[in-house]
Amino acid sequence: MDDEVLEAYHTAGRIAGEARTYGASLVKEGSTYLEVAEKTEELIKKKGGVPAFPVNVAVNDVAAHFTPHHNSKEVFVRGDIVKVDVGVHVNGYIGDTAMTVEVGTRNWTDLIRASEHALQTAIELLKPNVQMRMIGGAIERAVDSVGYKSISNLTGHSMRQFSLHAGKSVPNVLDTNSATAKEGDVLAIEPFATNGAGKVTGKKGGNIYRLLRARDLKKRALTTLLRSIEESFRTLPFAERWCLQFDSKSSHRIGKLVRLGALYTYPILRDGGGGMVSQTEHTVIVTESGCEIITSPKSL
Ligand code: MN
Ligand code: MN
Repeated sequence: MDDEVLEAYHTAGRIAGEARTYGASLVKEGSTYLEVAEKTEELIKKKGGVPAFPVNVAVNDVAAHFTPHHNSKEVFVRGDIVKVDVGVHVNGYIGDTAMTVEVGTRNWTDLIRASEHALQTAIELLKPNVQMRMIGGAIERAVDSVGYKSISNLTGHSMRQFSLHAGKSVPNVLDTNSATAKEGDVLAIEPFATNGAGKVTGKKGGNIYRLLRARDLKKRALTTLLRSIEESFRTLPFAERWCLQFDSKSSHRIGKLVRLGALYTYPILRDGGGGMVSQTEHTVIVTESGCEIITSPKSL
């Protein structure tokens, strides 16, 4: 990895870490999902980064892939457990990081610790030639040992410039993945712990989309919106609320673009048993003898 690329990763990672901690600090009883997402995205831009995906605010049994709609009035209530998942890119080089906080109570400290500890264990093991499945096995054991389940069908992932999922998975259980870590791999590691089923299921309504195919459509307004999406977000995920800047009717038109196969819509992912879910995530770069965390570990 050349110095310029490494520097971009470090900058993106530092901003992502700051934004994650800031976003989590805004999660309070009575504050809205929308203000947490928007203020965190504003901080990312103020610091010189670009959101690599919408700030995800995943509450209770929601594990991933949810950001508030532009007219959402949802508020956090006492007892919620909230995953704040933040992505930042600098010139396409991405830092992806998440943490979990509890609103006003301390009923789920052990659950939150379980994903934090699992991540720490994985990071300690990771070095060149280690099999990804062994990382998954270590995560699974760490979560199991404190009486929770590791979510088996969510994984971490390798990243490349402008690509959030670049081909390698970092499983959260001992699976059959035969891939190994290589020096220079950029990996997001993200254990999830739950007291539920340990498997997520998807449903519509996460408000997060990604471009599949930019092409000319019969309706001019749809073609124009699709072009704006392509120019602004390339193939990275984006929020419905980010498109109002291009088009006041974008919410409605996004639905049409999904039906036409031009956009992918991410399903909101919940634990299948309705369990509470915690998540902790860092982005690391595999080094000669281990790995380096780039997403500001100190503030976690
Ligand atoms: Mn993430
Ligand atoms: Mn991730």
